[in-house]
Amino acid sequence: MKVNSFSVLHRAAQIKTLSSQKFDLVIIGGGVTGAGIALDAASRGMKTCLIEKNDFASGTSNKSTKLIHGGLRYLKQFEIGLVRESGKERAIVHKLAPHLVIPEKMLLPLVEDGTYGKLMTSIGLKVYDLLANVEGDDRRKMLDKFQTLKKEPLLDANTILGGGYYSEYRTDDARLTIELLKKASEFGATIVNYCEMKEFVYTAKGRIKSIECVDHNTAYTFTISSQNFVSATGPWVDVLRDKDASKTKTKHLHLTKGVHIVFPFEMLPLKQSIYFDVDDGRMIFAIPRGRVTYVGTTDTDYSGNLERVVATKSDIGYLLNAVNTAFPKINLDESDIESSWAGLRPLIHKDKKDPSELSRKDEIFSSKSGLISIAGGKLTGYRKMAHRVIDAVIDTIPKQHAKILKASFTDKISLTTNTMRSSKAVKTYQNKLSVALNEIGLEDPYFAWYLTSTYGKQAELIIEKMSAFTNKNIELQLARAELWYGIHYEMINSLSDFFVRRTGRLFFDVSSISLCKNVIIKDCIQYLNWDETRIKQEKKELNRLVKDATFFYDKEF
Ligand code: FAD
Repeated sequence: MKVNSFSVLHRAAQIKTLSSQKFDLVIIGGGVTGAGIALDAASRGMKTCLIEKNDFASGTSNKSTKLIHGGLRYLKQFEIGLVRESGKERAIVHKLAPHLVIPEKMLLPLVEDGTYGKLMTSIGLKVYDLLANVEGDDRRKMLDKFQTLKKEPLLDANTILGGGYYSEYRTDDARLTIELLKKASEFGATIVNYCEMKEFVYTAKGRIKSIECVDHNTAYTFTISSQNFVSATGPWVDVLRDKDASKTKTKHLHLTKGVHIVFPFEMLPLKQSIYFDVDDGRMIFAIPRGRVTYVGTTDTDYSGNLERVVATKSDIGYLLNAVNTAFPKINLDESDIESSWAGLRPLIHKDKKDPSELSRKDEIFSSKSGLISIAGGKLTGYRKMAHRVIDAVIDTIPKQHAKILKASFTDKISLTTNTMRSSKAVKTYQNKLSVALNEIGLEDPYFAWYLTSTYGKQAELIIEKMSAFTNKNIELQLARAELWYGIHYEMINSLSDFFVRRTGRLFFDVSSISLCKNVIIKDCIQYLNWDETRIKQEKKELNRLVKDATFFYDKEF
């Protein structure tokens, strides 16, 4: 199959092809799981279509801790297979997108009565490294009290006994999803956001033959026909299984909510990421990133509204208490929180298990109608999950069709055109960008870091475009160039696509929203032909999202 030279997702062009052809595979759900499946399927040679009812990565895939990690705590639950697989995946995904999956040193401070004692930490981290084939300087080091406090002086000198120092990777979940989708589109997949699957349509023998969909931009309804259907709808998996009458009492989802809170970096100026104990026996992360440090996560049972998941005062109280106990020199309160996010883990239910004890393993459910659903799992394992789903699809198709499909080779498909080869190359590129940005008046080194880690070398298209705009404030020129890029290359269709998923501004640079909102709205009107009603809707939705990130509710919706 011919691979196009540009990574472009263009909505109007894609939507035309939806109802005009029969696909080999339709994937419902455009989170990281669906995106990974789309790339695996299209690159193996399947005529593939993916639809997403909202924006790509608007569900859980924008609400994670944003780590590509083996999951140290799963070792304690003896989930050796899961730790081994995700440990190995970290290095593969890093190679596929080194600007987006970035090595991150993690400090695990040891305290009296902590989750892991000194010996357990030492052995556990060693096994963790062995399972993931971690080599050289990246292998874990055990630190004494003095070395631990030197690494992070904000820790409590009265309680620290020592520390474990080991390697993980950090990412941006929504950007990872969009890069996977652009790559799948290069391999010929048809991919559309704001297109919702409403109903399944069956043959006389009860097999799904097509789906009824609605395009939320136009309210136009249409049918998509395919040989095979996969539901990668995360927290909505059981909603679709209900529609398909295939949900069972023995296998169903157990949703748990996870909240993260974000502080300006100056309020919680950590020298590196920390994985620390909370007094209820759980552990949480504190991760410095650009202008902020974020802390999370909670893990509580959830039965509220799937479409609006928010942080409650009780979630915030839990995280503030944890962070103030671990770092007693700073005393943070609710007013210091700059932003937050809350997401749902679509886990598989097991009787009598607490939320944190539920397995993070993925599972595939196949129904008599032909619907294949995937649930559970982690961002980190997206590639292997995709591989397993497509193998399950291939098992159901006639042998003569299966024969012409390639074996999965997503471990060799770089996620962006012109991919950098290593972390060193990323650093060199970032330094080069810093010089170029300085010359045009963007002097804060933050911008070189932000553009490199958000877009990789695609940043060049954005920087080149900046000169087309004449705003006195150079940051407005940058935002407008990013919007231009996002609309033309990444299917931006709403204000929230821009501010939340493509640029991460809502979580990591919330004050920039008020700075550039008006110019962004004006440009959207021009590029996307919005009428008055649409403009009102868009402003209302953005205000709601900003409120949900910055205001804390008494209870769930
Ligand atoms: P989603 O991202 O929710 O995607 C499902 C999509 O389906 C949604 O976008 C939804 O709009 C769409 N959809 C639903 N119904 C329809 C329909 N009818 N028609 C069309 N589209 C539809 N994993 C890690 O590896 N590392 C971490 O650090 C990590 N941290 C986490 C922290 C938290 C708090 C949580 C909640 C999860 C974390 N995870 C982490 C797990 C990881 O985020 C999830 O496993 C992953 O994002 C799930 O992706 P998904 O695509 O399956 O679901």
